[in-house]
Amino acid sequence: MLNIGCHLSSSKGYLHMGKEAVSLGGNTFQYFTRNPRGGQAKSLDVADAAAFLEFAKENAFAPILAHAPYTLNPASANPRVRDFARLVFLDDLERLEVVPGGYYNFHPGSHVGQGTDEGIRLICALLDEAAEAGPNTTILLETMSGKGSEIGGRFEELRAIMDGSAAGPRLGVCLDTCHVYDAGYDILNDLDGVLAEFDKVIGLDRLEAIHLNDSKNPYHSRKDRHEKIGRGHLGLAFFERVINHPALRELPFYLETPNELEGYAEEIALLKGLYR
Ligand code: FE
Ligand code: FE
Ligand code: ZN
Repeated sequence: MLNIGCHLSSSKGYLHMGKEAVSLGGNTFQYFTRNPRGGQAKSLDVADAAAFLEFAKENAFAPILAHAPYTLNPASANPRVRDFARLVFLDDLERLEVVPGGYYNFHPGSHVGQGTDEGIRLICALLDEAAEAGPNTTILLETMSGKGSEIGGRFEELRAIMDGSAAGPRLGVCLDTCHVYDAGYDILNDLDGVLAEFDKVIGLDRLEAIHLNDSKNPYHSRKDRHEKIGRGHLGLAFFERVINHPALRELPFYLETPNELEGYAEEIALLKGLYR
């Protein structure tokens, strides 16, 4: 069975998202832990979380994926920005304990001119603090497009984060198809080669999840603009290869394409029809 879902609004709680995911044809979903720009998290509804867990079990859900706010930057040069990242990150992990067994995915950060090594050192400092927090959640580093001073556009940078922090053993990776293509990994023409490179540098056993996005921009553009499945530079045949690839086919796939719910339902049906 194809494990697939899309990004959903968390405003109505876990059970609502679970039912919405099923109504769209999926068996998982992604959501923001709070406003994507940061800010207050909603108060925690333990009964809602428990009802969702029951619903998820009945409906053979794959792990759900909580996405940290985009503004979270533990690699910032500004200590106040780093402090905010730390508070949000640790608070999110604590709150995610009501839905054990899921993922917490974050963008490693941007070094904003301090250099990659210093950025990685600062990210590792946050992860050292998080090493013991939220023990029932797997923390995922997302592969990035490398735009601006973004860290995580190279597999080696994610490896360095894993090697440099106490949380290393509990870190997995979420591979974003749009991001890696924009970053200069030619997954369109050499999917096997890119996966071999991933395996060599990071290890395929650390690959936990896939963000399934087409790209508005060509190879190595370092842009990060998602496109609907089959409408961008990657194309539908590419996504058919990805979801059926022996090394990937069992993983959960999350759509972050520019769609309303209807469009997501269509993409989920399309991909399920291509799954062998
Ligand atoms: Fe992301
Ligand atoms: Fe993504
Ligand atoms: Zn993106």
